[in-house]
Amino acid sequence: MKIALDVDGVLADVIESWLNYSNTIRPKISKNDITDWNFWKKFKINRYDFYTELSSCWKNWNSIPTTENNLSFVTKSLSNIGQVDIVTARERSTDSFVKSWLNYHDISYDNYVSVIDGPMKADLDYDVFIDDSPLNVSNFLKHNKKVILYSQPWNKHISEDQIHRISNLSEAIQII
Ligand SMILES: [Mg+2]
Repeated sequence: MKIALDVDGVLADVIESWLNYSNTIRPKISKNDITDWNFWKKFKINRYDFYTELSSCWKNWNSIPTTENNLSFVTKSLSNIGQVDIVTARERSTDSFVKSWLNYHDISYDNYVSVIDGPMKADLDYDVFIDDSPLNVSNFLKHNKKVILYSQPWNKHISEDQIHRISNLSEAIQII
């Protein structure tokens, strides 16, 4: 069993760090206002600015919170079921920060796999993907992959029967 585990929005609550920054320079947004993947359009935020700011948040990886407590224990449990690889889409310059963050939080994983953009993940050889991106989900389903969707405000509208929605990572253990 090969498990692809996403970072942003599944393990790392990087959007909280971004909101902390954005709310000092723009009108206030709360996490629950982020109801779709391209929310920046709705708030008239430049796409390039958004992704650049997200990458900047990773430079301060120390201040990025986890999505939930006990990720160390839960990822160890996942590792007992199968091979757990971190599969993350990001700008290359942030990889070292992400690895530091994973190490700091004692996240268990076998390999670190970085791709340029999210939809590329579906081409990789994994049995199950744990992810929060609505865009990735449709690609995983097209490739007949098992999809575990980590519930976030920006994926609440996803309701395909084939997906398994979880609110805590530990729920993934039962599903897998
Ligand atoms: Mg993600």
